[in-house]
Amino acid sequence: MQTSYDVVVIGGGIIGSAIAYYLAKNQVEVAVLEESRIGLKATSAAAGMLGAHSEYEGYGKDFFNFARYSQALYTELKDELYGLSGIDIGCKKGGILKLAFSEHDKKALRAILTLPTVKWLEANEVRNLEPDVSPKIIGAAYIEEDISVMPYRVCQAFLKGAQVYGASIFEHTNVLKIQKQLDTFQIDTTVGMFKAKRVVIAAGVWSNPFFQQLGVEQQITPVKGECIAVEGRSTFLKHTIFHDKYYIVPRNNGELVIGATMEENDWSEHVSLDGMETLIQKAKELFPGIGQMKMNAAWSGLRPQTFDQKPFIGFHPHDEAILFATGHYRNGILLAPATGEMIASFILNRTVKKEWVESFQINRPNRR
Ligand SMILES: Cc1cc2nc3c(=O)[nH]c(=O)nc-3n(C[C@H](O)[C@H](O)[C@H](O)COP(=O)(O)OP(=O)(O)OC[C@H]3O[C@@H](n4cnc5c(N)ncnc54)[C@H](O)[C@@H]3O)c2cc1C
Repeated sequence: MQTSYDVVVIGGGIIGSAIAYYLAKNQVEVAVLEESRIGLKATSAAAGMLGAHSEYEGYGKDFFNFARYSQALYTELKDELYGLSGIDIGCKKGGILKLAFSEHDKKALRAILTLPTVKWLEANEVRNLEPDVSPKIIGAAYIEEDISVMPYRVCQAFLKGAQVYGASIFEHTNVLKIQKQLDTFQIDTTVGMFKAKRVVIAAGVWSNPFFQQLGVEQQITPVKGECIAVEGRSTFLKHTIFHDKYYIVPRNNGELVIGATMEENDWSEHVSLDGMETLIQKAKELFPGIGQMKMNAAWSGLRPQTFDQKPFIGFHPHDEAILFATGHYRNGILLAPATGEMIASFILNRTVKKEWVESFQINRPNRR
């Protein structure tokens, strides 16, 4: 078995998979080491909204531009990944309706309504699009370009695509320790030793032990989220509807995904009755007919959060052979393509926009 690579990526979630894809596509010899099975952690818990506009407020214009760029990459990736892997990533158009139930809600939408890609719809116009939405709304911000995908399928498609280009994937391979000897990394795992010229840490919320081992003073904290999937013919939804951090996302397979709870610093991974109660109550407020639908599944996942909720993407402050791509919080699905491309550009010595390098570098100042 080959155990020596140019680049070893630690973590086979959507971020590690996207990185492997862009590296392998550019003829870099890359391996992904995944503790369990690919895409089963935060990635498969995600609803799959590519909600660049939802994140317009609070994160600054560089983050928004990066998010919009990543969203646009999905348009070309959809066919490219299907051609390579045969996997349909479930790209669903229609957009997001951010509902307003009061003048206060409408005011909160003021910032995104200044964008040319967002328009205000009165209640009757919303009901023309979505007849079964709550009769209590006064209108909605309509963001036609915020589409959605099926996250687990995207992760699988990235990895299958990467394998077509020559990448190696090792599941059930828990990385225990990374040590550097001269210019080679020795990566100790539960199945033996791997060697690499460069390592990329993409272990999501489990990245903290690597920060410690590699001398970086940062921390990722979990924000637990729970979702429910339902289906049924009694009601119909074409657009994602969103209010007060809760949403209902229609998927191409006919399911509706109701999400998501937000529990700071909760490392537990079980589905809780409290979480289900909150989601069901909120979903009925947004879309009253949903109570009649059949429940298919419920799940939870841990969002990897950094101190300012923006990801760490870039080099170790003192060693350019170590790169980080972690802490994507609630936007990892949206940001995966641009993250994968950015890490590949660093490794291939290609130009990366200065403002993105600065926004996402791991040693950026904590201005909170
Ligand atoms: C309920 C919920 C809803 C969400 N909805 C959205 C959404 O609509 N849109 C959006 O853009 N984002 C959404 N997100 C956020 C998104 O899911 C995450 O930002 C993204 O999945 C992070 O990907 P990742 O690859 O960094 O982490 P993960 O998917 O967690 O992958 C990390 C991987 O590293 C592996 N690993 C850890 N330690 C080791 C080790 N020592 N050795 C080997 N492997 C290791 C893990 O097993 C895991 O597979 C949501 C998240 C949740 C929880």
